[in-house]
Amino acid sequence: MTMADRESATHGSGAATGLWRIETLCCGVLHGVPESALMYMDASGRRVDLPVLVWLLRNGFETLLVDTGPSSPELARLRFHPELDQSGSRTLAEQLALHGLSVQDIDAVINTHLHWDHCGGNPLMQAPIYVQRRELEFASAPLPTQLVPYEASLVGMEAAWLASAAWMRVVEGPTVIRKGISVIPLPGHTPGSQGVLVDTADGRFCVTGDLIDSKENVEGQLVGWPDHVRGVPSGIHTDLEDWYASLRMLQSMDLSLIPAHDWEVLEIGAFG
Ligand SMILES: [Zn+2]
Repeated sequence: MTMADRESATHGSGAATGLWRIETLCCGVLHGVPESALMYMDASGRRVDLPVLVWLLRNGFETLLVDTGPSSPELARLRFHPELDQSGSRTLAEQLALHGLSVQDIDAVINTHLHWDHCGGNPLMQAPIYVQRRELEFASAPLPTQLVPYEASLVGMEAAWLASAAWMRVVEGPTVIRKGISVIPLPGHTPGSQGVLVDTADGRFCVTGDLIDSKENVEGQLVGWPDHVRGVPSGIHTDLEDWYASLRMLQSMDLSLIPAHDWEVLEIGAFG
């Protein structure tokens, strides 16, 4: 598609409804992740396997990607991440190919945040990548608890987010990306996390990033607490007040949530 075609498609009558379809890709499975990384104050000692999800947004004219998944099992091992399994055509390129696409077909990328398993495919991209300014600032100098997920502690190795910084489009606060697609800050898991609001024929959805790993973060409860106190923050967070404020804001909006590492989301697959 030429630039002129794309411009015409984006603003032409066909795309004027601003409705998109969301399709879930699985770019690997993380093995043996401590439950405490997902559920604050979990003391069960349990370890779980998590899908690493990426989303295609398509309207028949343009194709956007929300997050780009992890890098590779080899790099994950070198960089102290959980064991990553990408067998069964789980690389980003293979997942795109299953949808008849290659990285050249992606018109824009939105990173919910810059943890390694959400931006590992960024260096492959040839499209603008939308990131909140606050997230870039924090990724550059994270808290010690977040050095590894940002790959900021690795002497002689360039973090995936840094390798793609040259073609990032930095945004600040709520921003319209396309008609029917916008981003809103959702701090808590990281200070610059953002959710992606997508209008579809089935209503509005929010791809939440790791503010919400699974629906348990919304519906679950802290062990031993009264039944009416619902919601358990992600075990990895920078600010719990922010986390709860972000969750409450989402709950006050007329939308459906798409958590970042939820097997049920993968099972459902497509939205809208
Ligand atoms: Zn994260």
